Amino acid sequence: MSQNLQDFVKDICNSNGNDPARMMNICIAVQKAFGCVCDEAIDLIAKTLKTHRIEVESVITFYTFLSKEKKGKFVIRLCNDIIDKLQGCEKVADAFKKVLGIDFGQTTKDGMFTLEYVPCIGLCDQAPAALINNVPVTYLSSDKVAEIIGILKKTGDTKKLIHRLGDGNNANPLVHSMVHNSIRKKGQVIFDEERAGSGLKKAIALSPAEVIREIKAARLRGRGGAGFPTGMKWEFTRASNGDVKYVVCNADEGEPGTFKDRAILTERPGLMFEGMTIAGYAIGAKEGIIYVRGEYAYLLAFLEDVLDKRRMQGLLGENILGKKGFDFDIRIQLGAGAYICGEETSLLSSMEGLRGDPKTRPPFPAQKGYMGKPTTVNNVETFCCVTRIMDKGPSWFAEVGSKGSPSNKLLSVSGDCELPGVYEFPFGTKVSELLDVVGANDAKAVQIGGPSGQLIGKADYERVICYDDLATGGSIMIFGLERDILEIVDYFMEFFTEESCGYCTPCRAGNALLKERLERIRAGKGEMADLDYLQQLGETVKKASRCGLGQTSPNPILSSLKNFRSDYEALVKKDTKGFQPDFDIYEAIGDAS
Ligand code: SF4
Repeated sequence: MSQNLQDFVKDICNSNGNDPARMMNICIAVQKAFGCVCDEAIDLIAKTLKTHRIEVESVITFYTFLSKEKKGKFVIRLCNDIIDKLQGCEKVADAFKKVLGIDFGQTTKDGMFTLEYVPCIGLCDQAPAALINNVPVTYLSSDKVAEIIGILKKTGDTKKLIHRLGDGNNANPLVHSMVHNSIRKKGQVIFDEERAGSGLKKAIALSPAEVIREIKAARLRGRGGAGFPTGMKWEFTRASNGDVKYVVCNADEGEPGTFKDRAILTERPGLMFEGMTIAGYAIGAKEGIIYVRGEYAYLLAFLEDVLDKRRMQGLLGENILGKKGFDFDIRIQLGAGAYICGEETSLLSSMEGLRGDPKTRPPFPAQKGYMGKPTTVNNVETFCCVTRIMDKGPSWFAEVGSKGSPSNKLLSVSGDCELPGVYEFPFGTKVSELLDVVGANDAKAVQIGGPSGQLIGKADYERVICYDDLATGGSIMIFGLERDILEIVDYFMEFFTEESCGYCTPCRAGNALLKERLERIRAGKGEMADLDYLQQLGETVKKASRCGLGQTSPNPILSSLKNFRSDYEALVKKDTKGFQPDFDIYEAIGDAS
């Protein structure tokens, strides 16, 4: 075993060029082969890469999918995000615990099974769901659990869990997955038929500066939610000094309620890769890297195959489509489970083989990004839009949508509705129109933009989805009349408390304090002054936090205080003048006595 580990580490480091920046690939491979990255493996990796063991250990302890302790042969990662909870994941969890005789966070004595919770696996539209090793298992129920464990014990093969195949490319042998695309509404920008090379051909007939001009004329804004103009980002990157530049595609959607990139990666990967290639031409880069979230590892072989086919078609490689000197290729970097890596500078840290810590800005990635070189980072949907703009023209692209938000937006709709799934709507669509189409006319609340977005109620359903009103990277979660708003908010705060990287105090401590006060209110021990406390602390955390996670983490509390204040007021004691009449000193000092 020890000798095997030694040889394995040597080989895997070697195949990654003994490059510390490829630390993620190395650790993921060791984890997969040995069920952990143990102390001996850490020392071996550090020695081979000529780095310090702390550099290796800090990576392993940061990512959910990596571990120093040995995990079971089958790691069952049950998603317990709010949507899965509302769909009954707790009953499924109880069934797993009963059948295996262990709790979550534990491994069976025979080393066969480990149970873990994960906050999002990109399958809210088919919840409750789990990843068993890399295999997504959807529409779980408590009565299916014994059968799942029985199959794994009998066959030792996770593939045997796939008793039916999903639609579209989910049935491709390289994907072979039970996942459904759930594409409910196709539009002309993302899900229209793909004509490989058509956008790229038109792009390379222009100069790089002209390509950027076309993207600017289309008024394309980044589809991640912040909406920064893509053409401007490319212009900054092109203008930055340096011969080496990079194109990075952020395919790390990890926000609960988001799964639209899963549909693109499965059904329109060529459109996305072509957008990256056009970006390479425009900014003068020779290398593109797509960072795919670890939860979508089941798509890896399929995506590699798409890249190979594009190389054979002359759409990647040297002298692309006969254009002398235009060389560009794309490689895939797999993540290992960390929500913060969706933030672009954290993503770059992760790609460099480090913990996914955010970097201080400025300098911005366009000036100093991946490996310190000028880098443009755009997301999966944005690159698809780029290809369509070059193929069909900026006026075609901008003729739908709203004034400040041209064209279409993909939405991942989940929760209490009849038709959860992926929808391509024009920007400017009213929330009420959306609710009508998805079958949720009696919704009590809608969370727009994932946990970091806004929780709105009926009074806001005539507002529109666009950058200038209700902005979203794509996540729309719907909550029915019987749902407890404060339970939903509490879940979101738990999510942020868990996912905070801990670097800065306002986010690390502030979110914990917000959650603590919210729990007090939920327990019926709050008072009116606690609502002011939540408001003030929430605003402080937003202002004082270092990166986007902390700057948006109090939003569930702040938007629910604004839109569902009566739900809070119904739980707090009135007119206590700062006293808590039912404060129990013996209970408060219980742990210390
Ligand atoms: Fe880390 Fe939160 Fe600070 Fe961002 S805001 S750097 S996630 S602690």
